[in-house]
Amino acid sequence: MQIYDLHKNFGDLAVLKGISTVVRRGEVVCVIGPSGSGKSTLLRCVNLLEEPTSGRIFILNEEITDPDADVDFIRTQMGMVFQQFNLFPHLTVLENCTIGQTQVKKIPRSVAEENARANLAKVGLADRTASYPAQLSGGQQQRVAIARALSMDVEMILFDEPTSALDPELVGDVLGVMRDLADEGMTMMVVTHEMAFAREVADRVIFMDGGVIVEEGHPDQVIGSPREERTRTFLQRVL
Ligand code: ADP
Ligand code: MG
Repeated sequence: MQIYDLHKNFGDLAVLKGISTVVRRGEVVCVIGPSGSGKSTLLRCVNLLEEPTSGRIFILNEEITDPDADVDFIRTQMGMVFQQFNLFPHLTVLENCTIGQTQVKKIPRSVAEENARANLAKVGLADRTASYPAQLSGGQQQRVAIARALSMDVEMILFDEPTSALDPELVGDVLGVMRDLADEGMTMMVVTHEMAFAREVADRVIFMDGGVIVEEGHPDQVIGSPREERTRTFLQRVL
């Protein structure tokens, strides 16, 4: 994915002020930064949940910011995992993982279910396929959300603070699943406050503040010995 000079305004408020970066296939990029710095807006522009004000974004050599882009196709290539899980409450775990496949990708139900079961097994939830989201812990719901993205056979998964709403004892399971995905070569862009995860799993860390990328690089550099004063100040507060 390539992002060139991305700007996003909400009315008079400039939230993204010229973001440029590249996420290579198989790369894990963690985005860190203070609240309000534009991290969620960046992911939402990449996923076309928000329309960029200006700038260009390319995925798989397709310009998604082109007015003629095939938005539905692009959305099938990108999974999104939110802080608040966003599962369908009236559907079972299995149905949550099949509905996109059958309705958006027109995959036959039997194939979709097989696919969903395999991915639910992968996130450790083989025995919860008939449960409803409300019957699961937050950590289990978040793992369903990951299995749902995997079941769509996406090229890339965007995570927006996937563990921020979880009780502390449930965070590890979700991060473990994410680490496994990273090891398997999934392309991931992860907004997170989990500095240990970013340091260990990310190929690259982006530090954002005030709608710009202040610095980016290897986690040992950005988290371990930041060049910029703003990065140091942020890290002193969170570490
Ligand atoms: P972060 O995820 O880094 O905390 P966000 O991208 O959520 O930051 O928000 C960045 C800024 O954009 C904040 O000031 C927020 O209030 C503003 N913002 C985000 N979404 C909207 C929106 N839909 N309308 C107006 N302002 C928004
Ligand atoms: Mg956010």
